[in-house]
Amino acid sequence: MSLWGKTVTKESFTHCPNGHEELKDVPVLYGLLAWTPELHEQAANLEFWPGGCVGMGEKTKVICTKCRYSYDANLAYWEKQGTHPSDFERPLSKLIAAFPIDQAAYYQGIRDGAFYSESLCYWSSEKTGQIEARILRYLRQERLNPSVTKSSFQDRRTLTIKCKSNDRWIVVDITYHGHMKQTYIRVDVLAEQAARIADRSAFVAES
Ligand SMILES: [Zn+2]
Repeated sequence: MSLWGKTVTKESFTHCPNGHEELKDVPVLYGLLAWTPELHEQAANLEFWPGGCVGMGEKTKVICTKCRYSYDANLAYWEKQGTHPSDFERPLSKLIAAFPIDQAAYYQGIRDGAFYSESLCYWSSEKTGQIEARILRYLRQERLNPSVTKSSFQDRRTLTIKCKSNDRWIVVDITYHGHMKQTYIRVDVLAEQAARIADRSAFVAES
């Protein structure tokens, strides 16, 4: 049975993962939006929620009006996106919060009240080799023991760095996009369940 397209309403919860009771069912708007100032304001007022281009069929989404964590009914977790580690009600793990980058998109997922996943991603025009060296240095400073694999697909070259810290799995993908001459960096810190769902099962098994 597929859970995709399931809609959950605020009646399913007494509070958000941060203890706030101010929950709201916000209509989801799918597709590529033309972001006018009006639309920005409506989104800020939680008149709608941008659902992205891959429609999952949720008509409404449960949002905490206080901390803006939203409930993902398909993956059964609360998530929040921010542009700075200080945007998060719950402090991000040190590895993500102290990651050596000025600007990135940050994500946090909380499942059953506990840590589930945290990510950051950004584009860079810096030389890929320099990015790789800096990230590996950072991970080693954190006393992690990263392993590195390389793969490629069409004009993309990816370096994947994996390591484990206590009960968390860390995956860094550094992908050079040849036609854009830009590199996309994504860092995931995952609880075991999230690591398994993210198709890192081989990684979980070998760790
Ligand atoms: Zn809240």
